Amino acid sequence: MQRYHPWIFSGAIKKIYGNPAEGDIVDVYDNKDNFIATGHYQPGSIAVRILSFSEVEPDIDFYWVRIKSALKYRESLGLTANPQTNVFRLVHAEGDNLPGLIIDYYNGVAVMQMHSVGMYRMRKEFAGILKELLGDKLIAVYDKSEGTIPYMSGISAANEFLYGNSGPVTVMENGFQFRVDWMSGQKTGFFIDQRENRKLLGEYTEGKSVLNMFGYTGAFSVYAMKNAVLVHTVDSSSAAIGLANENVRLNYGDDSRHKSFNADAFEFLKDINNKYDLIILDPPAFAKHDNILANALQGYKRLNMRAIEQIKPGGIIFTFSCSQVVTRENFKKSVFAAAANTGRKVKILHQMSQPPDHPVNIYHPESEYLKGLVLYIE
Ligand code: SAH
Repeated sequence: MQRYHPWIFSGAIKKIYGNPAEGDIVDVYDNKDNFIATGHYQPGSIAVRILSFSEVEPDIDFYWVRIKSALKYRESLGLTANPQTNVFRLVHAEGDNLPGLIIDYYNGVAVMQMHSVGMYRMRKEFAGILKELLGDKLIAVYDKSEGTIPYMSGISAANEFLYGNSGPVTVMENGFQFRVDWMSGQKTGFFIDQRENRKLLGEYTEGKSVLNMFGYTGAFSVYAMKNAVLVHTVDSSSAAIGLANENVRLNYGDDSRHKSFNADAFEFLKDINNKYDLIILDPPAFAKHDNILANALQGYKRLNMRAIEQIKPGGIIFTFSCSQVVTRENFKKSVFAAAANTGRKVKILHQMSQPPDHPVNIYHPESEYLKGLVLYIE
């Protein structure tokens, strides 16, 4: 049975014909010389990122069709003409059958991140395709691949506009406003993948004292401010705290219900006993490689333990993991261990994931990276 997984690992390759350079298009054959797939070659553990399992030429028309189908899919989700939301992920790499390519749309500005040299080589073509497909809904295309192109490739990608030009923009998500600065921000500027989980949060914050740990742009705080009595945002980056304050002000003006703290999460969580009714834990990916998986799981356990043991009785915790190497099962086990260490009664109210504009390719389980739980602590 063909499994259609979009990666071919170097260990599975018997012989390489010719001398492909990183980013070249290569065809893959089985032992009996039957064609399997075509894709981008790269030295390293993932040797080929597959573009197609049919014998096609991945030329500009090929990419046009794939990006158009990614756009049509977002249209069908109601994301492209939504008066409440003008920020969404337009291309989600393997999830959209375009391994190595991320495109986020921020109210007219498309921010691209290429994770492979093969995709990077096509960046100007991608900008042209976006112009054609989005028409007057596109102001600018910014390439932010400097930090994502494999370091060993020797390519020095410079972040730059490939079309138009724009300073930071204000986007709207579920009716809330956010400033997005792709140049100085993390990743492409905003964590779009939490949109639906933030909406769910809004259903639990009424009259609550809320603690938003790892707040970054303060997006969870902005949703909570709608009806909470108090919202505290914590982040170890002062730039992030500045952004969170700016976004709260953008939506609520000067509002004394909000306070932000530039602090380390583990320090801050030492003394929060009985202070909060609702805590959000959305840490950065602890585990970037398999070998530190155990440390990551330990990190989730410690973090969740601190929150579970100190939250007010009847409290709610929104807890997340965005590490690709941490499976949903492993994450749950860490939270279980955290709960068991406190001895408190804990219920799981919701199991969260990523929204449909971050689709999971069924043949590529690794594309399911965002896991979350809503807990009720008695
Ligand atoms: N919840 C955010 C995304 C969080 S990204 C959203 O909805 O957009 C993770 C954030 O954690 C980053 O802003 C980073 O600065 C912060 N961070 C990383 N390590 C930290 C630590 N030890 N203590 C506090 N914040 C930390």
